[in-house]
Amino acid sequence: MWPPDRPRPFGIRSMEYFLQIYGSLPRAGPGSDELTRRAVEMIPQLPDSPRILDVGCGPGAQTLELLRRTAGTVVALDFLPEMIERVSASAESAGLAGRLETTVQDMGEMTFQPASFDVIWSEGAIYNLGFENGLRVFREFVKPGGYVAISEAVWLKSDPPAEVIEFWQEYPEIDTVAAKLKVAERCRYEVLGHFVFPANAWTDQYYDPMEERIEEKREEWSGIPEAEAVLTAATKEISVFREYSDFFSYAFFVLRRKRNNK
Ligand code: SAM
Repeated sequence: MWPPDRPRPFGIRSMEYFLQIYGSLPRAGPGSDELTRRAVEMIPQLPDSPRILDVGCGPGAQTLELLRRTAGTVVALDFLPEMIERVSASAESAGLAGRLETTVQDMGEMTFQPASFDVIWSEGAIYNLGFENGLRVFREFVKPGGYVAISEAVWLKSDPPAEVIEFWQEYPEIDTVAAKLKVAERCRYEVLGHFVFPANAWTDQYYDPMEERIEEKREEWSGIPEAEAVLTAATKEISVFREYSDFFSYAFFVLRRKRNNK
């Protein structure tokens, strides 16, 4: 998991080690271009040049896919300047930088005008606000009738073993897809579509490269407590997934903000 703003068993100094593992991966959470594309295709109609906000963009794999799949402008937002540098560099090399804007901001204190985006996108990042709170925050910034597409952790079965429950205590809002849909409706969104991530969306661009990074660093970082804590936490996260992926995953939710009078 990517929790730089949450209590963790290591201090500020270890952010450097944290970024060397998590910040160097193709994605900073589960996902794939194919899944981003599938979610884009659930949006029935976009303006010719939509204005899209990508909240918690991380290294920006989905930012680039949004630039490729729409003719719009994407505003990539993250509170880590290192992530914004990566998105900008990737967009530059892909020849897409002309439609990219970037901003280093806290997603909990966004400074945009109300109703200023046609689409708000957020892959693996709304949990930083909490799902329900995040949907309410996004509602303020997306236009009435505009779209919100997010990926979020979900239970796949109702009886997860104690070890999995304990791991996910870090994010108590993990819930079933049905429960998430109810929250979306309560927050006055229409649900346009949703789907659960396949296992390879966790491994191909996230856990497999993370395992390689861990092995590269294990010897070099041996004896440095903050660095070892990062490796231990990452190894634990991967092992919980490998053992218990039948019990949890991520799901994409594509929503439309209801108009105020509906
Ligand atoms: N969307 C990217 C992806 O799927 O590869 C990144 C997902 S990563 C799990 C979450 C991202 O949210 C990180 O890049 C992190 O820096 C960012 N983030 C966490 N808390 C944030 C906050 N309060 N404001 C802005 N960005 C935040």
